[in-house]
Amino acid sequence: MKSFDLLIIGGGPAGISCALVLGSALKKPFVADKAIGIIMHQRNADLNAALLNNVLGIKPGTIGGTILKEGKEQLENTYPDIEQIEKEKVIEITGEAGNFTVKTNKNEYKVKTLVIAVKTANFDIEGLQDYIVPHQGFVPEKNKIQLKNKNHLVTEGIYVAGVLAGWRSQLPIAMGSGAQVATDILTLWNNGTQTIAHDIISQ
Ligand SMILES: Cc1cc2nc3c(=O)[nH]c(=O)nc-3n(C[C@H](O)[C@H](O)[C@H](O)COP(=O)(O)OP(=O)(O)OC[C@H]3O[C@@H](n4cnc5c(N)ncnc54)[C@H](O)[C@@H]3O)c2cc1C
Repeated sequence: MKSFDLLIIGGGPAGISCALVLGSALKKPFVADKAIGIIMHQRNADLNAALLNNVLGIKPGTIGGTILKEGKEQLENTYPDIEQIEKEKVIEITGEAGNFTVKTNKNEYKVKTLVIAVKTANFDIEGLQDYIVPHQGFVPEKNKIQLKNKNHLVTEGIYVAGVLAGWRSQLPIAMGSGAQVATDILTLWNNGTQTIAHDIISQ
């Protein structure tokens, strides 16, 4: 069974942003030996339905599907060491921090730490039901759910990112949430010393 130190579940803006920040930190000594993967499922992304005119850095009129496609390519081309797992959907999570088993429709993976970045509608991953609560960022009539968390941490070894973390549904918020989770995990791997991942223009 394939093993990961960290597996991100969901190839939407929150999941890809998390993966990109982790990818850019792979040069750090405390990250270099980590096996990091992402279940790059994109078909159900909320972003597929969006027409974007109001996001900094994105050309007005861009459709959400383009961002998903280009985000996946950016990750592939810039940080190929992050393994992208395609055409798989997570069905069940069992185990505990350091030893989770993630079951998809095709495979099983051993995982130490998880980031859940799937959409809130029709949430159906077995093993996480205990953490489901009404979403704090939608009106109750929408019947949306989120995973209960404290600063994205659901329980030891499981983080949540994006709209499923309870944030209101805006693309930059979802991306920021994924990036925040990435830096939390980097800080954890750096034995609790605060850290970020920046590239700098060479002089
Ligand atoms: C109609 C519409 C218009 C919008 N317009 C705007 C706008 O103008 N400006 C703006 O800023 N925001 C807009 N948004 C909001 C924006 O699209 C969302 O906030 C953003 O996509 C949320 O990102 P996310 O990563 O949390 O979730 P998502 O984009 O939903 O991504 C979740 C990912 O998880 C995957 N997934 C689901 N189930 C599983 C599973 N079991 N296993 C593995 N993967 C799974 C999905 O395929 C998807 O790729 C709009 C949204 C909609 C619906």
